Amino acid sequence: MPEPHIQDKVYKRSLEDPEAFWTAQADQLQWHKKPDRALQRTTKTLKSGVKHDHWTWFPGGEISTTYNCIDRHVLSGNGNTVAICWDSPVTGLKEQYTYKQLLEEVETLAGVLREEGVKKGDVVLIYMPMIPAALFAMLAIARLGAIHAVVFGGFSPASLAQRMEASRPKAVMTASCGIEGNKGPMGYKKLLEEAIRTSSFKPSKVIVWQREQLRWEPVVKEDGQRNWQRLVKSAKDRRLKAAAVPVKSSDALYIIYTSGTTGLPKGVVREAGGHVVGLNLSIKQIFGVHGPGDVMFTASDIGWVVGHSYIVYAPLLAGATTVLFEGKPVGTPDASTFWRIIEEYKVTTMFTAPTALRAIRREDGDNDYFEQIYGNRGGLRTLRALFLAGERSEPSIVQMYQKLLSKHCAGGAVVIDNWWSSESGSPISAIALSAAAGENFGSAHRHQPLQVKPGSAGKAAPGFDVRIVDDEGNELKPGSMGNIVMGMPLAPTAFTTLWEDEDRFYRGYLKRFNGKWIDTGDAGMIDRDGYISIMSRSDDIINVAAHRFSTGAIEQAVTSHPDIAEAAVVGIPDSLKGHLPFAFITLSTHHHPHPAVPDDKLFKEVQLLVRQQIGAIASLGGMIQGKGMIPKTRSGKTLRRVLRELIENATDGEFEKEVQVPTTIEDAEAIEVAKAKIKEYFRHKGKDLHKAPETKAKL
Ligand code: AMP
Repeated sequence: MPEPHIQDKVYKRSLEDPEAFWTAQADQLQWHKKPDRALQRTTKTLKSGVKHDHWTWFPGGEISTTYNCIDRHVLSGNGNTVAICWDSPVTGLKEQYTYKQLLEEVETLAGVLREEGVKKGDVVLIYMPMIPAALFAMLAIARLGAIHAVVFGGFSPASLAQRMEASRPKAVMTASCGIEGNKGPMGYKKLLEEAIRTSSFKPSKVIVWQREQLRWEPVVKEDGQRNWQRLVKSAKDRRLKAAAVPVKSSDALYIIYTSGTTGLPKGVVREAGGHVVGLNLSIKQIFGVHGPGDVMFTASDIGWVVGHSYIVYAPLLAGATTVLFEGKPVGTPDASTFWRIIEEYKVTTMFTAPTALRAIRREDGDNDYFEQIYGNRGGLRTLRALFLAGERSEPSIVQMYQKLLSKHCAGGAVVIDNWWSSESGSPISAIALSAAAGENFGSAHRHQPLQVKPGSAGKAAPGFDVRIVDDEGNELKPGSMGNIVMGMPLAPTAFTTLWEDEDRFYRGYLKRFNGKWIDTGDAGMIDRDGYISIMSRSDDIINVAAHRFSTGAIEQAVTSHPDIAEAAVVGIPDSLKGHLPFAFITLSTHHHPHPAVPDDKLFKEVQLLVRQQIGAIASLGGMIQGKGMIPKTRSGKTLRRVLRELIENATDGEFEKEVQVPTTIEDAEAIEVAKAKIKEYFRHKGKDLHKAPETKAKL
């Protein structure tokens, strides 16, 4: 037998001896009080009498996340390393902060917040654009032992009010405006005031960062509104500062609301101890960011978990440099922005969502910017890896970027699909860039990573016991599609409960498999070598004549056609087979054709790809083409449920019927486009083409 790869050895050890494994990881951090042990297994009893297994990481420990992210590096002599590079093509501004400067900003702001009444255990809501002040806010709140709840800047007043009521924040930290791509500044004053007006809970303070692009006028003192810069200036004049306040390992560092593709958003609680320990390992072991000199560019938003973990906390825990980017993959000013950033800041690890790469592919189908401008002049040679997460990466996008990286980036550079969630806090599966760090954290060795299999999101990460089970919770053979679940305990970065809702934690994650497994809500498979493929959310499975297919697998076949930039597949009711897969596609041509019905030739070619890659049984029931038609959440997840409802209504002849749209939608316009395209398609194809199994009783 060949010697197992170091990533496999590390993983095995993390599950077999979690106590020793995680104690060694905890020793890498500075504790105010060392934990008594790494892991304590417990049983929880709910009010309803239900009992379930539970666990606690690092009991007895006390720690400050901010201290470990900032003070520790200044004290060890790295104060002059650049911590944050802010790059804002939407304003034309750039700023840099060393660790020393970051410390000054954060300890002062923490002093200000304390004066404004924020104390350990209080919740502070952050509603901000991607500016350095937003990071200062997160770190200052954590410095006081308070809990932040970041809500994506630009969410509607309704979503904001919902999160305000749920988290009851003492104060809100915000800015006068956000700037979304090339749409110009959007004032936050009206949005926030509207949210506070409708929320039954009212925060007592609103601290406003004034931006010159659009000011917040007037600042109404009687309503608790305060000018952030003025407070900070006064504090600096008085040398007001706050030292780091340690909290218990199990105390909350933050609350983050899940993306909400279904139902009411859940408030995921991140615990202080497990979070620092787990992130500190992942940033080095998985992402290959070792410390000063390494530069991480995570093109996400601080409103998402990817932003929390890999824009803010993890790169700072490592003592590396993080790039904070206020812009979009395209349109600020064009599809070359990401590549400019890599060159300008000498980025070593990049992280984004596949949807961003698809947007770039639509604008620059031949990758001219990547190759002709930045690649050919050697501007991208520092890049060691491109990490992708947030949704499934189809093999075609992984392969395309792998080719580009192999040609123009650092030797051995790889594209790595990694799978995780707000609940997990860090990758549940990935390919590790510096696997050896899991065995010996001090190791600077960059091992040859495991082979990447396009279409798979890599292997399980330390501490995550991932299994595939049937609907009864029985484990399935390697290679079988099923529900993806995890055994307890979850790895330390992961949640252990929902904010003030133990019952919902049980109902949402444990009840489905009677407390035996934690349900991830995702469906997929694990192959013989342990590679995990995430195919779709469990509720995105289509049942065609009693065969279960994942929308992700069919989308993968559809997008393997070179002319298709993006696809969303949903089930359309069929009188014979129950459901048939139906594709919504966007072509990769700059001038997209108008008709909703695609060319016959294209449809035949796509059909052939689906038959070849999946099987004749998965043949498409139809295909609609259009630009700006596939609705997404703000975090880039396809809202298949909405498309499914629209198409179901269409089979009943109800083209205008209202559909339920989550407040997290990115572009509500897309629904109108989809409606119009569906109507055009049905008119063209004849309304009897698709018939529901039974005609619905008309009330
Ligand atoms: P969120 O809670 O917003 O972080 O979303 C988590 C969900 O995003 C997961 O449960 C998956 O459905 C999806 N997701 C994240 N990363 C991937 C990936 N690499 N491949 C497939 N789906 C992913």
